[in-house]
Amino acid sequence: MDKFIVSARKYRPQTFESVVGQSHITTTLRNAIRQQHLAHAFLFCGPRGVGKTTCARILAKTINCTDRTPEGEACDQCTHCRSFNEGASLNYFELDAASNNSVDQMRDLTEQVRFMPQGGAYKVYVIDEVHMLSTSAFNAFLKTLEEPPSYAIFILATTEKHKILPTILSRCQIFDFKRITLRDTIDHLSAICQKESIKTDENTLQLIAQKSEGCLRDALSLLDKLVSFSGGQLSYAQTLEHLNILDADLYFQLMDLLHQQKLSEALVLYDGIHQKGFEGDQFLSGLAECIRNLLVSLDEKAAALLDVAEGFQERYRQTAPRYTAGYLVSALNLINQAEIQFRTARNKRLQVEMALIKLAYLNQALDLSSSDGRSKKKMTDSPLAFRIRPIRIATARPDSSTQAQVTKPEAKLILETTEKKEPKPATPTATPTTTPSTPGLITPSPKISALSKIRDQFAQQVKENTAANHKTLSDEELHLAWKQYTERLRTQKDPALPSFERARLEVAGPTEFQVIVHNNIEQRFIEQERNALYEFLSRHISVKGLQFQVVLGEPDPEASSTEPAPLSSRDQYQAMIAQYPLVEALKEKLGLDLDY
Ligand SMILES: [Zn+2]
Repeated sequence: MDKFIVSARKYRPQTFESVVGQSHITTTLRNAIRQQHLAHAFLFCGPRGVGKTTCARILAKTINCTDRTPEGEACDQCTHCRSFNEGASLNYFELDAASNNSVDQMRDLTEQVRFMPQGGAYKVYVIDEVHMLSTSAFNAFLKTLEEPPSYAIFILATTEKHKILPTILSRCQIFDFKRITLRDTIDHLSAICQKESIKTDENTLQLIAQKSEGCLRDALSLLDKLVSFSGGQLSYAQTLEHLNILDADLYFQLMDLLHQQKLSEALVLYDGIHQKGFEGDQFLSGLAECIRNLLVSLDEKAAALLDVAEGFQERYRQTAPRYTAGYLVSALNLINQAEIQFRTARNKRLQVEMALIKLAYLNQALDLSSSDGRSKKKMTDSPLAFRIRPIRIATARPDSSTQAQVTKPEAKLILETTEKKEPKPATPTATPTTTPSTPGLITPSPKISALSKIRDQFAQQVKENTAANHKTLSDEELHLAWKQYTERLRTQKDPALPSFERARLEVAGPTEFQVIVHNNIEQRFIEQERNALYEFLSRHISVKGLQFQVVLGEPDPEASSTEPAPLSSRDQYQAMIAQYPLVEALKEKLGLDLDY
């Protein structure tokens, strides 16, 4: 172990084949070399430590190799390859723009470019961190980049593509390097461990890969550091401690406690984590990561996004169904808010604890809001067209029991009167005839509410009135009175007028008639007038105890054209532009977006 070389250097890939996780780039480069279609300027973009410089070096070595393999790789045997591997190649120049960014240094470089390569086909210039070049340095370089000699190849590398001037971007073939996935990193580390006979397991390597966040160089140097600590044996617990990572197990425990609303236990558990010296934000992001993984594991389709070691995958899959997606999303939201507030919070520990308290009561909150949501939904989901039931006032239709009692004597009365052929009996004389049935009406069972008592009294009165008036309703009289009322509405310019004009009347009984309307709106207008109408008709029609109902008849085919249904705002707009096309033109011209 004493001869342990830093892995990042020792295991730096020497061929395109061995570059980790960038096959989309290495394949293209290899093909370009094979087909002799190399560009003169490349721009390698991507996060740090993912293989940009490595690829640039491999490219430089490969294009000067005199004995390339059929796959387009360098042979590593010829003089050029060997001198390159020894770092003695005269055709390869690396410039770090972070420290060499002056105009003079750029001029030196462009001077050099003018000399032919020595013992090779190409001279390769790698400018690392090219976004650090000053503008004047860029400009000094631009001319050379525009008209490079046929043997010169420039490889510009940057972590910040957006800082590169467009004039440079347009002259380069651009390659975007990807972040190395957790899986690729773990595989690479595990291959190295095997070669170096380091004893470890996948979960431990996963910790290293996670910590390196897609930067392979970091992963390798972490591995080096850990190996030198542990002397060839990497255990999970040691690695956790050295890398200052919280065990995923703790997050699982905590989620379980919070979900069961065991707040005090959760807070005690967090206290332990806090004692170990873990920062609150680190803890929050770890918890968020755990929740995110649970969320992803809920759905088979998203399971591919679960970027964790084999052992943990199973655990996430088993645990996830305990939670609903709604719970997990809300939990993520809560943690996200806590993370934002954490930075500015004075009492950082309290901030984390507050988040835990909220999480512990999340289930209750969700229950509340979901039942709330249901009722809201019910309200908005129902069709918005209004449905109006005709209001039945007591006179119009008393309930069946009283009706039976009312109609019986009524019929008897009519019979009596027809026998007597008395055209207009006086009201007082008629009253005694009704008395026999009265007890049944006004002494209701105790169950009958006050309202039905009133209704009964009203019915009684109606019956008395009917008894007093033997005249039956005539079609003629009704239409005349109706017309008078309509005229009155006309002079008042009442909006109910059209409904009254269009309504059809039908005598339905001795004292009863029906108002047949075409739609809900007409029905509503007439119902609104009911009291005034009733009062008016009672005065103008000699029949006492008049009753009427407003009912929906067959929809009038004309109705649609004369009385259209209320338009939605979108329909209103459509109707408006149909009439005034200029409105549409105006909307287009101003680029308006309508919020119906
Ligand atoms: Zn070679």
